[in-house]
Formats: sequence, structure tokens, C-alpha cells
Amino acid sequence: MARKQDKFSGYDITTRAIHTGTDYDQETGAVRRPLHMANSFRLPDDLSKVNYSSTDLLMYARNGNPNQQWLEEKIASLHGADDAIVLASGVGALHALFWTLLKTGDHVVYPKVSYMAVYRMFHELFNRKFGVETDMVDMTNLDAVRRTIKSDTRLVHIETPDNPTCCVTDIAAIAEIAHQNGALLSVDNTFASPLNQNPLDLGADFVVESMTKFINGHGDAQGGAIISNDLEAMDRIRYEAQVNVGAVISPFNAWQIFRGSVTFPLRMERINKSSLTIAKWLEQRENVTFVSYPGLKSNPGYKIAKKQMKNGFGGVISFGVNADDKSVERFCAALKIVTFAVSLGHDESLIFPQPSYDERINLYPEKFHRGFIRFSVGLEDPNDIILDLDQALKDIGI
Ligand SMILES: *Cc1c(COP(=O)(O)O)cnc(C)c1O
Repeated sequence: MARKQDKFSGYDITTRAIHTGTDYDQETGAVRRPLHMANSFRLPDDLSKVNYSSTDLLMYARNGNPNQQWLEEKIASLHGADDAIVLASGVGALHALFWTLLKTGDHVVYPKVSYMAVYRMFHELFNRKFGVETDMVDMTNLDAVRRTIKSDTRLVHIETPDNPTCCVTDIAAIAEIAHQNGALLSVDNTFASPLNQNPLDLGADFVVESMTKFINGHGDAQGGAIISNDLEAMDRIRYEAQVNVGAVISPFNAWQIFRGSVTFPLRMERINKSSLTIAKWLEQRENVTFVSYPGLKSNPGYKIAKKQMKNGFGGVISFGVNADDKSVERFCAALKIVTFAVSLGHDESLIFPQPSYDERINLYPEKFHRGFIRFSVGLEDPNDIILDLDQALKDIGI
């Protein structure tokens, strides 16, 4: 796969989000590249050099399509990285990475708090189906990570801030532990987003982004990306996972995410600011039992977040209310501008409670066991959001 040099690499991320991957349409001169909804492409006259399992040649949609490749240029640029692979979802990207790197007998260290599908993959699928040995660890405890890593550990996977508790893991410290033991480090960067955190610069080998979230930002398309400077590994991921497992993104979704990503840095700047304001408000609201947001000085991960994050601390706030599961549901339903739905990073604010009976709740620190809510801050006026939270809390009598 030939990689294009980013012509805009010297420019600010706001400029790159607009210009990288964009060009005039060569056929018409249109100032936007077209949406190519084609499954197949004209083959070269000489077929002798065609490798049907590679992404070198546009030949069939699963081997790559132009909208995917233009988006890959932009996502690599947002991380200042050499390469990115764009797939159908964040989970598709996580699976493609794990599937390519791991084989039977390898050992994986993964976090106690992680995205649901990562928990499923390492808690019950890769281990039981394929004999990959997996150990769950509290990534905020470096000694625990040191104790768990072994000579046959192939991969350490982390998420920071993590979903859903917003706790912070020290990327550089974990990278050092992983590398000292000959393991690779992958970081799920979805909560931070590339405006706020670039794990490759802190020693990570691979980054995964769910572009369904902040990068697209409009709640209308699903996609994921793997970002890395390890070109050899990226080619293997393309060959083994993209072409031969097949979680390829549709051209339409790639086109939509490309468009959404143009305003990503601007949206994220506002979301960073609003989130800090709202987190501070929640912290002083009575009957809010805790607020977990990396930008609050009260947060145990604040110092590390200051060190490894820039521009801001992201758009997800976890907090607790002094209420039972049913009352928490009534609170979510009583909101007027905040939408009661899963996902995060959309233009609209989203709220999602994690009830006390959730199968993973006991993996989280104790304070998250009652009245726990994950809140994704949107682009609405922050005062309107605060008034909405306040009226819905009053509605359930707290
Ligand atoms: C949403 C999310 C994913 C999965 O992304 P999809 O696009 O929904 O597959 C992975 N990691 C984190 C942290 C997420 O929030």
C-alpha cells in the first residue's frame, strides 16, 4: 500500500482537518472529491501482477475504496502518524488489530475497565475460542501491571480516559513496562480524541479510534481506525483482517465521516470547554455523589492527564447521583435537550446510566456501584445543558 505524504503536515490540526485528503475532483474540477459507490474497478490488462488479497490495487470494495483511502490520509494526519486503516466500526478496528497481532498461546494484558466489546473479546472469545491467554488488570496500578506482564505477553491494551469511568492511565509508563517485556502497546483513544491526546508520541505502538464518536461527531455514521507508524504491521492488518476478514467501511460512511471530521477540532475545542464547566457545576451540586472527569483537580488521574493530554480533557463526564436504578432512569427520561441514548461524541448531548446490576459493575471502583451515569457533552449552550440536568434532578426529587 503506497502511503501519501501529508502535504499539510507542518500546519495546525484545524488546518489539516480541513485540507488533508481533500483535492479537486480530477474529472470535473469539483472542489469536493466524489462519493464512489462502486464495488469493483476496471482491472489492468495484465493480470499477472494482481494480488487479490492485497490492498495495493483498487479492484474490489473490500480491498479498499477511494473514500476510505482519503479518510485514512486525514486520520493519519490528525495523529501526525505514517499510516491509518479505516474500517467499518471501532470494534471492527479493535478486532482487526487483535486478530492480526495474536495467535494461540500468546498472552494479553487488558484493563478491568474497558469498552464492552474489548471485555467480551478477552474475557470470553479470544481465550475460549482461540487459546489466547488473557489477564485483566487495573491499569491505574503500575505495580499490578508489572506483576501481570510475562515473557510471552504479546500485547498490552489500554483505554484512557476509559469507558465508562473516565479514569486515566499513564500511557508513557505502560509503554515502558510493555516494551521492557517485549510486548506491544495499543491504546483506545476514543474518549480523548486526536485533538487532546496522541499516544504514538507517548510510546504506544497502535492507536484505535471509534470514529463513530467525536471524529464524525454527528451521530449518523459508524467507523473505526487503527493508526500506527509500524508500516509492516499495518500491511499485515490490511491483508489478514481488512481483505480476509472483511470489516471494510462502506464508501458512504467514509464520505460522511470525512465530512464530519472537517469540523472535528473546532467541535472538540468547544466540547472540552463546556465539559470542564459542566463537570465543575456537577461537583458542587448537592446529591451528586462523585464526578469523574480528568480535568478536575479532585480527579486521581489529574496529574497524569495534565502530562499526557493537551488542549483539553475530552467530552465525557461520569458522575453519580444519590438514587436507585429506577430513579436514575426517570432522571434520564426527564431531560429535555439531553438525549437518553448510548454512544457519545455527537453534536447533541447524550446520557446513559449503568445500573447496579450490570455484570461488569464490580470491576469498577466502589463509588461507581450506585447511581452511575455516563454523560457525553454536546455542542449545545453549556448553560442550557446545566439547566436541563438541574431540572431533571429536581424532577426526581434530588
Ligand atoms: C464506542 C467505542 C468503541 C467502539 O466503537 P464502534 O464504532 O461503536 O464500534 C470502542 N472504544 C470506545 C472507548 C468506545 O467508546
